[in-house]
Amino acid sequence: MPFFALSDADRASELRADTEAILAASRDRRAVLLPFVAGRALVVAVDEDGSRPGVRFAPAEVRLRDVRRSADGDEDPLAFERLSFLGFREEDGAPVFAAEVKRCESLVREAVARNPAVIGRVGRGAVDEAIATKDAKSVGPEMSRKDAGLLAAAASLLRWQRNTRFCQKCGSPVKIVKSGHKAQCANSDCRAPYYPTLMPAVLTLCTCGDYALLGRNSKWPRGFYSCLAGFVDQSESLEQAVAREVLEESGVVIDPSTVRYVTSQPWPFPCQLMVGFRAEVAPKRVTVSDAVCDTRRTRPGSRNTSNEEHAQSCEVSFPPTPTLDIAELRDARWFHRDWLRAQLGKHVDPREGGGREIPVGEIALPGRHALARYLVERWCDEPNVAKPGTSPDSPPPPSVAMTDDREMPLVPTTNRSFAFRVVEMNLPTAAGGGRHTALRFSPTGGGGAPTVNDHARLDAACEAEAGRIGASLRLLGGGQMCFRGGEISESAEIDDEDEASLLIVLRNGGGGDNGGAEVPRVDPELVRALVRRAYPMHDILIPGAFEGGGDGTTEQGLARRYQY
Ligand SMILES: [Zn+2]
Repeated sequence: MPFFALSDADRASELRADTEAILAASRDRRAVLLPFVAGRALVVAVDEDGSRPGVRFAPAEVRLRDVRRSADGDEDPLAFERLSFLGFREEDGAPVFAAEVKRCESLVREAVARNPAVIGRVGRGAVDEAIATKDAKSVGPEMSRKDAGLLAAAASLLRWQRNTRFCQKCGSPVKIVKSGHKAQCANSDCRAPYYPTLMPAVLTLCTCGDYALLGRNSKWPRGFYSCLAGFVDQSESLEQAVAREVLEESGVVIDPSTVRYVTSQPWPFPCQLMVGFRAEVAPKRVTVSDAVCDTRRTRPGSRNTSNEEHAQSCEVSFPPTPTLDIAELRDARWFHRDWLRAQLGKHVDPREGGGREIPVGEIALPGRHALARYLVERWCDEPNVAKPGTSPDSPPPPSVAMTDDREMPLVPTTNRSFAFRVVEMNLPTAAGGGRHTALRFSPTGGGGAPTVNDHARLDAACEAEAGRIGASLRLLGGGQMCFRGGEISESAEIDDEDEASLLIVLRNGGGGDNGGAEVPRVDPELVRALVRRAYPMHDILIPGAFEGGGDGTTEQGLARRYQY
């Protein structure tokens, strides 16, 4: 049951038009009222010890019989016809009502303090201090699922009533009828009916193999990412809305035939129905040609000099680069499933009173109440698509790793230089089989540009790794990279200075000023794809010189600025 759905209540919608039945329900000894003050929910802070973990608030519930006696004729905000009927609560069969009580707030607060159910949750003598008015959207995640569902339903209905005052056809005032669930024009010649509004919105987890596309709204704090979402347009199917929103926000084209409904969630703030989808994006394929796979320049004695081996070109696929709609999204990126799995539980949704900054290079996802989180978690629970013939005894080599068995730093030290290699490891069938494109890097001894020795050590480490797992090794290329601070990003024109993403500069470390060893040039796109797998939050800059020419380009300009 999704968060914010009215779960335990029996809506008893068939009774809404039955005045006698609703009147009887309101007179039931157990009948309770969920009070709202000027549109905000009246809630109580619950005793942490007595509640379930993570639950800090409950609705400030009133027994209707505690307030009914003080009815004050037509002006009484608690008069029967001003109560909205939500249904019967499953746990005790109590009829549940909601009402706006601003005009008799003190009376209601006293009634809350007298309610044994509230006293039981808050503690005797502590109710007055525990009462507060809160926005239902922000307080909902800090309630039990059941309470949040009821509160959201009440908040949504009362808001609609507040905003539905006049007939759209004739301008006459409308009257709320049907226990709060319908408005009707009071003009007897018109009598136009109005019903609570529902706005469908699509929420899409776009995937491309083992990558998922997540975006950051321009209003969200840095590091907070979620699925792409948008409202359904008129005369548009849900599937069409998915394709349009993803294209508009990220520039990524999805295959409409892959759009799959997952589940939905009411999001009554004010009145959305979030409809969750998965959609698959075709990967971009790059064929690394024989010329690029040239291994003749590797050092003598390496095991990958067979001409037959590099006669076959290798194809590498990765997700298409998003192009942002800067009006809506501040950022959109692909995140590898392994990386997301490691991030899932690390940081709380900053909208839920987190307040702590999300560290550079990491992300936070929507909280447990959100459909987006459900979509991401469910996808992370599924096995990786790319599991090329592995057996439990011989896992495939990691796609990106440091050599020397050192753990890969989540955020590498700024201004530290690394030598890198892109290799293909061919595992024999007995060892699980499959061709694995992998990036290996290690920090340079002196901290600056790699020397011949740095490259030689890295080559030896790659060969040793291949030897350990019984794979044949093919060198696709290499060079050097440097992790930089957040001064510049690929999308510098839309990022502000606080963006603080890191910058990686890649170049062919061959010869020249820095004295590095000569290594084959590898397709920059392949390096980008591999590096992004381990460092999705880093903007990756590849100097133009690396790609063998072109002058005056932005990248080259930046390269000069950073002396690369
Ligand atoms: Zn009318």
